[in-house]
Amino acid sequence: DAEVVLVGRSNVGKSTLMRELTGHDVSTGKKPGVTRKPNHFDWAPQSFMFTDLPGFGFMSGVEEDKREAIKTDVVRYVEENADSIVAGVLVVDGKAVVDIIDRHSDEDEIPHDVELFQFLQDVDVAPVVAVNKMDKVDDRDERLNELCERLGLYPPWQQWSGEGGTIAPITAKKGSIEPLKEALRGHFREAKRDDL
Ligand code: GDP
Repeated sequence: DAEVVLVGRSNVGKSTLMRELTGHDVSTGKKPGVTRKPNHFDWAPQSFMFTDLPGFGFMSGVEEDKREAIKTDVVRYVEENADSIVAGVLVVDGKAVVDIIDRHSDEDEIPHDVELFQFLQDVDVAPVVAVNKMDKVDDRDERLNELCERLGLYPPWQQWSGEGGTIAPITAKKGSIEPLKEALRGHFREAKRDDL
């Protein structure tokens, strides 16, 4: 069965987004240990699953060896299910993400949003960056272009958006998530075509 995995730091709006996507409350894991039990659920009317992969986003304050164990779990899950995973949604806070990336770019901090993005690419899962909280962003184009640069994508950001795209600016809190749905629709279409 087709599957979409969700990753992202704490407080970026993952729960809010899941609620909008699925129409019901879902518990996204607030603690690192929850990684062991991915949440599967359907997104009507299409039949596929969203799997929340907590862990990566909740590492601060977690001991180093436990951190590594959690990370290993997530990596293993994605690698084992890579064939059915049609996209990996990396949720970021559009207002804060560029500053956070820049602030941590020379520290040994796990995880980086950039690291997560690269990880998805490494395991051949198409990344879709759900750039959330766009209602708080004034300089929309500038911010999104900066984010693209940090992720190694050539600006302008618009060329990475749309069906099957990589960049999806959204405001989950207001239910404005169409760019993400559009991106995902393209990835599902691609996955179906590859099956034939
Ligand atoms: P999670 O920790 O990633 O699951 O994040 P939550 O879904 O719990 O959201 C964290 C906070 O961000 C909450 O206060 C949400 O109301 C807020 N939030 C979520 N989406 C948006 C958005 O699109 N815009 C704004 N301004 N706030 C949001």
